[in-house]
Amino acid sequence: MSDPLIAWQRLRAGNELFFAPVRGRRGEPVVDQPIAAVFRCADAPIGSEMVLGQSWGSLLDVSTWGHVIDAGVLATMEYAVETLEVPLIVVLGHNECAAMRAALRAWDEAVIPEGATRTAVQQALSSIVRRGAGADSVDTVTAAHIVEVGVALLERSPVIARRVDAGRCGIICTATDCNSGLLRTHATIGPVGEAPDDLLECV
Ligand SMILES: [Zn+2]
Repeated sequence: MSDPLIAWQRLRAGNELFFAPVRGRRGEPVVDQPIAAVFRCADAPIGSEMVLGQSWGSLLDVSTWGHVIDAGVLATMEYAVETLEVPLIVVLGHNECAAMRAALRAWDEAVIPEGATRTAVQQALSSIVRRGAGADSVDTVTAAHIVEVGVALLERSPVIARRVDAGRCGIICTATDCNSGLLRTHATIGPVGEAPDDLLECV
């Protein structure tokens, strides 16, 4: 898919297919309030609704490459939990993550890439150090990073922290295997009520 016009035509055709049944149900609500905000990695090959088996509109989906947290991500998450009163934030990692592979390469070779990708690699390297994780595989780096991303959302947003403290929002840090579809939970924060599947510290 290297031609921009063909790509846009494909999206327009998909739009026609998608909205045809919606137009036929005029007057019915098209979407519900989202039940969760999902912060996913932009290079994940499968969308959040598909991974989590949810319908269109049931998730507020935010993605950046390598889960980079910036002011836009924080503003979106705060809107989700405070205005929409979404009760759950899911930090969704995935196997074979290209961003985490870039971070692992930087760790092994002790070389930070140039350009805007540097930010993603630096944040992932910071996660390895802060978790004291062994940087021996992409999956290990992914696990450490999504936990740190969950913690960072809490630490950098007083709005999210207040909602979690009040028991009105939880954060779950989980990764999917895009081949099997299985989820592996690495940390929970707040009233999520599910123990992590591995030995990373539950915050
Ligand atoms: Zn990724």
